[in-house]
Amino acid sequence: MKVKKKKGLEFCVQLDPARKQKLQKKLFDWYVIHQRELPWRKVKDPYSVWISEVMLQQTQVQTVIPYYLRFLKSFPTIGHLAKANLQHLLRVWAGLGYYSRARNLRQAARKIIQDHNGRFPESYEGVLALPGIGRYTAGAISSIAFNQRYPALDGNAARVLTRLFKLRGDPKSAGLHALLWKCAQELIPQSNPGDFNQALMELGATLCSPRRPACLRCPWQAECLARKEGIQELLPEKRTSLVAEKSQWAVAVIFHNQRVLIVRRTEGKLLRDFWEFPGGEFNEVGNLKSALAKKIWRDFGLRVRLRNRLTTIKHAITKRRITLLVYQAELKTSMLKVPHTQTVRWVRLDELKKYPFASASSQVVKALKSMIC
Ligand code: SF4
Repeated sequence: MKVKKKKGLEFCVQLDPARKQKLQKKLFDWYVIHQRELPWRKVKDPYSVWISEVMLQQTQVQTVIPYYLRFLKSFPTIGHLAKANLQHLLRVWAGLGYYSRARNLRQAARKIIQDHNGRFPESYEGVLALPGIGRYTAGAISSIAFNQRYPALDGNAARVLTRLFKLRGDPKSAGLHALLWKCAQELIPQSNPGDFNQALMELGATLCSPRRPACLRCPWQAECLARKEGIQELLPEKRTSLVAEKSQWAVAVIFHNQRVLIVRRTEGKLLRDFWEFPGGEFNEVGNLKSALAKKIWRDFGLRVRLRNRLTTIKHAITKRRITLLVYQAELKTSMLKVPHTQTVRWVRLDELKKYPFASASSQVVKALKSMIC
């Protein structure tokens, strides 16, 4: 079914006050009763709001909850975060993904100490100037913590508005993206803008789902233009889906004197400073084990004998679908000198928990632990 062309645009940017108030009231009434109980909803201090909002980017609510609680326990204030040891910070963040978020948090905390005497900046511009904070996060912090009238448009809120105003096109395209922000700005009330933003996102997260939105329970069912035409499931209009790129990786867990070799990533932005097992990407190689052994010789000067496969891990990063093959290995010759540096370490299995491992490598660690338990 094709969506019929019809104007919905002016409907959203030129809402008459009575209609706007009606929409706001209905949403608030619904939110008061139906909002989920989430730990960050109990607080309004900018630090906690900031941490929760950064964690919630690209990550599901249920995944975030334990990380959020653990993070605030480890770094209860901006001062603690500014002084955080990077390895400790990455360990607390490990598994949550998009690790530049953790680095940016620390960098921003340092900027707050340096430029704002340790007090979270109250102006929207001041918030937006912090490392790692974009328009969405600045809007969320300004509205929730400082009661300022700025919108916070995440994917859930954007989906609701697209349907409410029956807006066609790709919400990520420049034109529609800008229009959605305008609509969100237009709708936001003078009082309780933070609750309004959260209510809009909550509606998208709980009722106005991508497939089969629960319109019969929606507070905006009478106003929703997409629903009126029965096209709610056709909006937002889908982008051409990206073709997933497949990639094969292999690592070796090299055992020596009851220790295993781990290495710290020192290059590139992705996963820098996390620890992993030696190996790399091997696409279209004839003999994978031999290619892996050669790489370990080239990288570390170690001759290894690869044994059986310990486990296979499937992992996805954005549009990459990664298959990680994990081999058990041993040294062919005993080493004259055991390297133990800032980037290469031999550690006992019970010491692995002291090191930050990103998602795929932490699954290797889990597999190793289950071997010894
Ligand atoms: S009526 Fe349905 S499609 Fe429209 S906003 Fe509500 S849940 Fe979404």
